[in-house]
Amino acid sequence: MNYNKKSVTDVDVTGKKVLLRCDFNVPQDKATGAITDDKRIRAALPTIQYLLEHGAAVIACSHLGKPKGERKPALTLAPVAQRLSELLGQEVIFAKDMVGEDAQAKAAALLPGQILLLENLRFDKGEEKNDPAYAKALADLVGPDGIYVSDAFGTVHRAHASTAGVAAYLPAVSGFLIQKELDIIGGALANPKRPLVAILGGSKVSSKIGVINNLLELADTIIIGGGMAYTFAAAQGGKVGDSLLEPDWEQYALEMIQKAQEKGVKLLLPEDTVAANAFAADAESQVVPTGAIPDGWQGLDIGPKTTAAYTAAVADAGTVIWNGPMGVFEFPAFAKGTEAVAEALSKTDAITIVGGGDSAAAVEQLGYADKMTHISTGGGASLEFMEGKALPGVVCLLDR
Ligand code: ADP
Ligand code: MG
Repeated sequence: MNYNKKSVTDVDVTGKKVLLRCDFNVPQDKATGAITDDKRIRAALPTIQYLLEHGAAVIACSHLGKPKGERKPALTLAPVAQRLSELLGQEVIFAKDMVGEDAQAKAAALLPGQILLLENLRFDKGEEKNDPAYAKALADLVGPDGIYVSDAFGTVHRAHASTAGVAAYLPAVSGFLIQKELDIIGGALANPKRPLVAILGGSKVSSKIGVINNLLELADTIIIGGGMAYTFAAAQGGKVGDSLLEPDWEQYALEMIQKAQEKGVKLLLPEDTVAANAFAADAESQVVPTGAIPDGWQGLDIGPKTTAAYTAAVADAGTVIWNGPMGVFEFPAFAKGTEAVAEALSKTDAITIVGGGDSAAAVEQLGYADKMTHISTGGGASLEFMEGKALPGVVCLLDR
């Protein structure tokens, strides 16, 4: 995939109407509908402000939740319009529909420097189906001179009407959020500052096959931690007790070990493990070799020798890509390995990239978020990005 795509700064937006796809899929209080975390709205501000300051009329749009093509009042974007207006310090006009009469009238009347937010795109089945008629109707809102700006990284792995389809009708460029993801993750995949160290953890081997396969082609060192390490250990004949194990993936694990050898990629597996007598925050624990976990015990974190080896391996890295916690970081007693890796990343001079929903949450929870070069904002999208997949919402943008 070509990561070198045009962004808002590569086109003239002055006096133009811009259809801006945002990720306003915010968490809400179930009872009151109140927005419980406005991080995604704040993240969209730089692109919105740039467009408004440069004299564009912005028609913003997003999905919220899973209305499955039906108009669900609880999933209206009206509260987002309200919050966005507070953050911008200017009125956000809200359309009661997406491409209907209200949206058309308000879009037509929109002046440079003004912003309109459309109602939840997924109230229409055409959004997720990538219906060309729906995409065309969205494009028509900005008229023949309009521009499409894509800034919802969390949905670039989906070919929907507003994330990809609409690019058939309008010049398509990225906003600053997607631009940063492309520059940093794309840069690390296409032309990494070496050595490139990939740290892979999380729960299952099976959910990380694509990432392992892709990074095995690119990285100089691959570090394995988290629950997936026990499938590797069992494959090599180790005893893993009650640890997370995917027997169907043991053969694959062996093939990866062999492939790494053939390619001269250093593959680090955990030598020791913090094993617990239950999957619980207050479980009893002991440090044991990863291949000798007693019956009735399960590995919930990497052990101290492994932690030392892994933190040493990132110290002189040029680039580190991290996906998947080293242990069950949700339990403080088993967060030490993940925290030590986060700390090591915070100290290296390497470009440090964190991808994956839980990994990003772990780094934030442990207080290292502002020490990383980049924390990818899309869970599923960043995983598919690291898998090297062509993302429909990126492919559709104009090449530089
Ligand atoms: P990401 O969302 O960053 O891609 P994953 O979803 O693959 O990461 O994995 C995150 C989950 O893996 C966390 O909830 C964590 O508790 C779990 N995990 C990590 N290590 C273990 C382990 N040893 N046993 C069970 N679960 C684990
Ligand atoms: Mg996850």
